[in-house]
Amino acid sequence: MKKKIFICGISTECCSYSTLIQNKKDFEVLSSKKLLKYINFPFSKYDNITFIPNKFYRSLPGGPVDKKFFLKTINNLTKDLIKSTPIDGILLIMHGAMYVKGISDPEGFFIKKIRSKVSKDCKISLSFDLHGQMTDTIIKNIDYFAAYKTAPHIDVKQTYSRALKMLIDGILKNKKNHIIWEKIPVLVSGEMSSTIVEPCKTIYKNLNKFNKMKGVNDCNLLIGYVWADTKRATASAIVNCADDNIGKRICKKIALSYWNKRFKLVYDMKSYKLNKGFSSY
Ligand SMILES: [Zn+2]
Repeated sequence: MKKKIFICGISTECCSYSTLIQNKKDFEVLSSKKLLKYINFPFSKYDNITFIPNKFYRSLPGGPVDKKFFLKTINNLTKDLIKSTPIDGILLIMHGAMYVKGISDPEGFFIKKIRSKVSKDCKISLSFDLHGQMTDTIIKNIDYFAAYKTAPHIDVKQTYSRALKMLIDGILKNKKNHIIWEKIPVLVSGEMSSTIVEPCKTIYKNLNKFNKMKGVNDCNLLIGYVWADTKRATASAIVNCADDNIGKRICKKIALSYWNKRFKLVYDMKSYKLNKGFSSY
């Protein structure tokens, strides 16, 4: 019998200090064939899988997302998911830095809801921006995780492919995977952590080296998101692995590689201190 994979998501990054609330009009919705085309994965190669492209809501970075709109949107996505059950897998396309007043972990809230509507055998793969926030709730409710490895982001579609490939291998080949994560108590802006300059250039390059190790499936480093004043805000190392011991060791290594270079994270463009030189801008 053909396997079924459901695809959906909601993605934006929100500055919690902004008074400009994001609502329905701010989000573009990709669905059906448009969504498959956007993901740009060789779907037709897998004739033993039916892909169900539902809806992907995305908007440019902005202020907080309106709570009513957020709840209505995730309810609609969940209803569509229930209509498609039983399913074997879900690909979630998210950013990881949404801010909704009164909901401390919007992505975790949504993913936990989705998890509760599918069977235990259904596997969930999550794709994130590297400026996303990880939480225990998210980790507990997913089976695979992939985040961008470039900032500026030039590997968006490759990240979707990594998340999908892990999901497909899990469903078709029963490939073993656990997720290990470590918080890194460092929080800087994206302008201080570009992967085209050091130290992040080398740190991110090393992720690919770790991926080649036996027992390791896919390594990630999240810079986190500094423009939202939330308790979950943190950088983190996240490793998909077949062997827990190796996964833990590599996860610690990635976390330390970032921690040890924290004072080398500087603006890669001209910048001024607020009280010095600001008037010359
Ligand atoms: Zn980003």
